[in-house]
Amino acid sequence: MGLRGNAGAEPPQAGLRVNAGAEPPQAQAPPWARGVTALTVLTGAGISTDSGIPDFRGPQGLWTRNPGAERLSTYQVYMTDPEVRRRSWQSRLAHPAWTAEPNPAHGALARLAGSSIDTQVITQNIDGLHQRAGTPADRVTELHGTMLDVVCTSCGDCAAMADALDRVRAGEPDPPCPRCGGILKSATVMFGQSLFPGVFERAAIAAARCGLFLAIGSTLTVQPAASLCSIAADAGASLVIVNRDPTPYDAAATAVIRDPIGQAVPQIADQLLAASTHGR
Ligand code: ZN
Repeated sequence: MGLRGNAGAEPPQAGLRVNAGAEPPQAQAPPWARGVTALTVLTGAGISTDSGIPDFRGPQGLWTRNPGAERLSTYQVYMTDPEVRRRSWQSRLAHPAWTAEPNPAHGALARLAGSSIDTQVITQNIDGLHQRAGTPADRVTELHGTMLDVVCTSCGDCAAMADALDRVRAGEPDPPCPRCGGILKSATVMFGQSLFPGVFERAAIAAARCGLFLAIGSTLTVQPAASLCSIAADAGASLVIVNRDPTPYDAAATAVIRDPIGQAVPQIADQLLAASTHGR
């Protein structure tokens, strides 16, 4: 079973032990962690739950408990129902991301991005926590956009979310575009919208040219994001999945890790960095 599941009385998995005793970390590194020079990472909601941002699709997720909440994130509904927009602005004001801090998993990926390992982070998250943890913005591809900006649905003007939220606080329940009066929305991809042009293509190139593709905290059920796993594996990369629950790509994976993300990802980063330093 290798790195799969740590259910019940099973002993800790050897490949994931914290550096114990005098053994150097690279001695414990699994084969897929050795000699990696190009790393591409896909992150989903699971990497941000330790930062206090709920996973919308997980068992305790907002949409799982309240399917009606998904309506709020549907483009056509948002564009035609002013009440939905007013509620959306209120939920943006109250979003946990405004007070969230990056966690050790975000930090570990930032360390990799700053190392000699050529690292690209592709994220399904809109919370900006990878950049706040120190991963350079040009190393982060935000598949579903960012909640830190707003975009006008009429003229396409892009501006800071913070300014729009100030207007909501000042009494505008559905602030229009200051330029053209059009409907503003967060610069994120809603249900019923396509990804922003060029974004998936950029992610696919990163998936195709890496030696190791790490999928972290994603259910791998949302396309086309999940298909990046196949693109990487088909191009010859090792595919390693770190997620609490099974995913449709587990069978295609080199290894599946069920340990908590905040523990597993820093450990993987240590292994990759040790192996890259000592492997030269
Ligand atoms: Zn406008």
